[in-house]
Amino acid sequence: MKISETIKSVRELVNTARKAGKKIGFVPTMGALHIGHISLIEEAVKQCDFVAVSIFVNPTQFSVGEDFQKYPRPLQADLEICKKAGVDVVFAPSIKEMYPNENLTWVNVEKITEPLCGKSRHGHFRGVATVCTKLFNIVVPDFAYFGQKDAQQAAVIKQMISDLNMPVEIVVCPTVREKDGLAVSSRNQYLSRQHKKDATLIYKSLQKCQQMILAGEEDVSVIIDGIGQILSQSPAIEIEYISVVDAQTLQNLTKISGKVLVAIAVKIGSTRLIDNILVDTNE
Ligand code: AMP
Repeated sequence: MKISETIKSVRELVNTARKAGKKIGFVPTMGALHIGHISLIEEAVKQCDFVAVSIFVNPTQFSVGEDFQKYPRPLQADLEICKKAGVDVVFAPSIKEMYPNENLTWVNVEKITEPLCGKSRHGHFRGVATVCTKLFNIVVPDFAYFGQKDAQQAAVIKQMISDLNMPVEIVVCPTVREKDGLAVSSRNQYLSRQHKKDATLIYKSLQKCQQMILAGEEDVSVIIDGIGQILSQSPAIEIEYISVVDAQTLQNLTKISGKVLVAIAVKIGSTRLIDNILVDTNE
């Protein structure tokens, strides 16, 4: 496995693979890799002939007061994980490599960046869309892999790809969970033991909501109340949003129909956690 810190060297490696007729898969990450990331890498290894993983804690997607400084950066352990998973090249650039000068060009996806996490994380999706554009321009992958865990991010990237005719296919992989249902996240390590236990209520509430929808409940306010009741079992959980939206447009629904995304963001202590489920009422 090659490790590349410069745009020039990763481009050369990918170009050589492409010239040899290889399909290029790409998994963008911020590192602190876990089984969620590994599932994306494994899918890429299965579908492609050459897999690049980027590890870059992108400063432009963090707003003031967020955890950019304290975000975990266990690079050596991450490299071991990538090597074991069959990655061909890890691109781990410095901030200076990615943003050598003041950045004046931004990719701003409208509308679907406004609800859900967009309400509290100002500028977050602009940072994500911009860094993904830069990474896609550097790696030029055939396929890029994202997790359903960050449903709004995946929707934003898909929209951007479609609007800007970017020649890459987005593959969205299912959310990987701990045995107790908690969605695996690099931020789970901030949680105390008790808070980790409290956090399992998030998926429990999503499962309950799925049952309600599949049992025929159509009233979104009833579903949101049901989730709220379960989350309120822990006094440590502070709800940021519970939203029931159209899975593609991310606009709020009042009545359940079609492909529905139920998304939750909470704070437990100072840790912000998100999770979601997709329910297709047409199935
Ligand atoms: P991050 O390093 O947090 O930026 O995440 C990199 C990619 O891994 C994103 O596409 C995430 O959606 C995905 N990811 C993070 N956690 C999980 C998980 N538990 N299951 C599946 N994908 C995940």
